[in-house]
Amino acid sequence: MDNCIFCKIIAGDIPSSVIYEDEDLKVIMDIYPAARGHAIIITKKHFENIFELDDDVAKKVLIVAKKVGIALKDELGCGGINLLQNNGETAGQTVFHLHFHLIPRYDGDNVTIKWITGKYEDGEALELAQRIGARIK
Ligand code: AMP
Ligand code: ZN
Repeated sequence: MDNCIFCKIIAGDIPSSVIYEDEDLKVIMDIYPAARGHAIIITKKHFENIFELDDDVAKKVLIVAKKVGIALKDELGCGGINLLQNNGETAGQTVFHLHFHLIPRYDGDNVTIKWITGKYEDGEALELAQRIGARIK
């Protein structure tokens, strides 16, 4: 993809601070970190979002997230880590090449991942679950 910043990072045309790399994934430091050690796992192949992701690569992402997460925790001594991922502009995606954030968390840090909880009417959650479930291919 000619105009994709992450494709350029994968190709080595734009420099990055690389934590880990294999045939399918590259893990780099996020250039604008939400917290110290904020890393992103980038697929080497250009998928726009998770809906396009190959099953073979999908299987590897969580294994790498686990390994890098442990390394981050060991090195940084953070209290926890958020693994998060945005699909679509509405969901906060700004770079349209699939990636997964690993955000180390520290007591009193400036990261906010928050929502106001809602409620379902009686039976609504089950009905919705069944309708969504029926669409799974
Ligand atoms: P998202 O908003 O989920 O699409 O995340 C895109 C992330 O890419 C942001 O956290 C940016 O800080 C990060 N980012 C953008 N350009 C670069 C770059 N050249 N090197 C490393 N991270 C980048
Ligand atoms: Zn790309």
